[in-house]
Amino acid sequence: MGTIVCQTCDATIAHFEDEKVTTLYGKCSKCDCSDTKEDEQ
Ligand SMILES: [Zn+2]
Repeated sequence: MGTIVCQTCDATIAHFEDEKVTTLYGKCSKCDCSDTKEDEQ
């Protein structure tokens, strides 16, 4: 099973069918609009 995780807040956005365990990074609806970069560590 694949999982889509928000790269900004680490929230799980969605799951999708996959043969192997996969994690993709995206943006959830909450973080979708904020395109400003936060402080990079
Ligand atoms: Zn988010």
